[in-house]
Amino acid sequence: MTAQPSFGRFFLPGPTDVRPEILAAMARPMIGHRGAAFEEMYARIQAGLRHVFRTKRSIYVSSSSATGLMEASIRCAPAGAILSLVNGAFSERYARIAQACSRETDVIEVPLGHTFRLGEVEARLAEKRYAAVTVVHSETSTGVLTDVRAVSDLAHKYDAMCLVDSVTGVAGLPLEFDGWGMDFVLTGSQKAMALPPGLAFAAASAEYVERAKATHDRGTYFDIVEFEKFASRHQTPNTPAISLLYALDAQLESIVTESIERRWARHAAMRAETERWVTSCAESGIAVAMFAPEGARSPTVSTITLPEGLPSGALVKAVAAQGYTIGGGYGNAGERAIRIGHMGDHSVDTLRGCLDVSHAALSELIGRRTHK
Ligand SMILES: *Cc1c(COP(=O)(O)O)cnc(C)c1O
Repeated sequence: MTAQPSFGRFFLPGPTDVRPEILAAMARPMIGHRGAAFEEMYARIQAGLRHVFRTKRSIYVSSSSATGLMEASIRCAPAGAILSLVNGAFSERYARIAQACSRETDVIEVPLGHTFRLGEVEARLAEKRYAAVTVVHSETSTGVLTDVRAVSDLAHKYDAMCLVDSVTGVAGLPLEFDGWGMDFVLTGSQKAMALPPGLAFAAASAEYVERAKATHDRGTYFDIVEFEKFASRHQTPNTPAISLLYALDAQLESIVTESIERRWARHAAMRAETERWVTSCAESGIAVAMFAPEGARSPTVSTITLPEGLPSGALVKAVAAQGYTIGGGYGNAGERAIRIGHMGDHSVDTLRGCLDVSHAALSELIGRRTHK
């Protein structure tokens, strides 16, 4: 096997590339999770996560993937029906979780690649009483961004809570938990936080936690009331994935040093670079296009449709032969689209390498096709 650089070539929209020094942090010896050393680390982690979520609230650290906290947000939400905004695979998952938790669940579904009309959301909220609305900030299956602040404001107008899956949002694009008056926002470690998979993070408002206390059947492992209780003493309810917390501790130090505003700006620059690449490919006769409409494109992940008759698998494979990893499309868009995860610790520089290789692979594949 030829040696590959250990960072800069892995562009899946999750898990994302993790820097070697962050991976190395996980090799430290164990500490007990009920001791002073742990509490000290946890307090440091809290400060970093508050910077990332822009809140004064505690941030819950769950040793699970992000889906665990999606389920927690539903199970602990006030009793009543759920309204799920669905525009892709992950927002659909949120609706399915609500159903699986025995909640009466109504759905507003828009076609893949589309965003929601706020007027329609408001009409549905006005028509029937809902306990909560679920919404995905950056729909990783399509690369579409939703204005979760506007959705949250609408939900509040009708006395519903807003539950936000910001798994490819938090740490990669602006989100103001306190400033926007959010109720519940969750993310996972393996997306814009650029950590290995296995941890999930959430913030909940004081009102959400207060009302959760009156909700029945919250279970135990994903009980937000328990998370809140333990967070206040710098602990987690159960044994956490301590090695992953070491990585988180190291990564938060980098994120705070960079500052969240600069991190957001770096992601916006990567989106702009990807848009320029798509335009220049199209101008040179390669019929690629951004799937998400202008103005609603995620800064962390781009879904790009391919020329007619070029299967995404062939491009993913050709790019892999050059040592780079990109994602195939998702769901219905799968065969005719690729996804590039330009998030976490990537930069316009590392992305440039990926786009150059992808351009060469595309030209080669199209050339081969026309010569057949
Ligand atoms: C990756 C992802 C999830 C699921 O996260 P897991 O960590 O696999 O549970 C949920 N929502 C969005 C938007 C995602 O991108």
